[in-house]
Amino acid sequence: MGGDSQTKGTSAQPVRGPLTIGPHISASGGWKAMGERALSIGATTFAFFTRNPHRGSTLKSLDETDPAELAQLMEDNGFGTLVAHAPYTMNLCSAKPDIVEFGRQMMAEDIARLDEAIPGSYYNFHPGSHVKQGADEGIRLICEGLDQVLVPGQKTRVLLETMAGKGSEVGRTFEELERIIEGTKHGDMLGVCLDTCHVWDGGYDIVGDLDGVLDEFDRVIGLDRLCALHVNDSKNPRGSHKDRHEKIGQGEIGLEGFRGIVANERLRGLPMILETPNELEGFGAEIQLLQSMASEGARA
Ligand code: FE
Ligand code: FE
Ligand code: ZN
Repeated sequence: MGGDSQTKGTSAQPVRGPLTIGPHISASGGWKAMGERALSIGATTFAFFTRNPHRGSTLKSLDETDPAELAQLMEDNGFGTLVAHAPYTMNLCSAKPDIVEFGRQMMAEDIARLDEAIPGSYYNFHPGSHVKQGADEGIRLICEGLDQVLVPGQKTRVLLETMAGKGSEVGRTFEELERIIEGTKHGDMLGVCLDTCHVWDGGYDIVGDLDGVLDEFDRVIGLDRLCALHVNDSKNPRGSHKDRHEKIGQGEIGLEGFRGIVANERLRGLPMILETPNELEGFGAEIQLLQSMASEGARA
């Protein structure tokens, strides 16, 4: 943490810095409650599950308040774009047709809901696990699903998340994500959310050569498609394909790794979402830490 005035307990007003940053928070209490929780820890964006992440039920908790109240709160406080997260059960390339169908149905409903509630948000999803079908068939199924679900003129941009390559996950390499984007009719509605833990576990050296990784992203996918970041440290070494998130600075990416990330010009302005193992207060401390490192980077 930088200045001494910021470290005197939780009652102090959180310091706003150059980053658009916030945590993944619980959707309980509805739209406005999410915004208020984010605001209370100095966040300027946030992520949330559009429905129960594991079972994938309905969106009822978000109906409890008017989304217009959240929109107003966001406007009053200079929030950036929200990054909604699809449920983990969504697998657009499952070997089981009923799971594929359920995933498509959830995505269509979620996009329609976001379009209505907070137009212009991002909707982030895990491309899927192809199980034993192979990456080619997995990519084909994902593209088929996106072609079926995405609607011309929708306000929500759908983000493919970079994955760690655990099991048969599709999306461990930039090449696989590009094949999905290229393989759909709706590439203009798609983007990428880069998860720092996942790309690290996937083998990309974002600590030793962040600019090299971003060059590669630019060459393969195009940096204009990079819409958001998940900012997580990793419990495991690079290339481990494990996907275990760690608190910022306490894992293998480490504080210096994040200093490089928040200082990088090409990542400026992107919504940064924390999915670290924290409660609200811990997220607040990480926001302050990253904001102060970003301010130092900007002065340097
Ligand atoms: Fe995710
Ligand atoms: Fe993530
Ligand atoms: Zn993860």
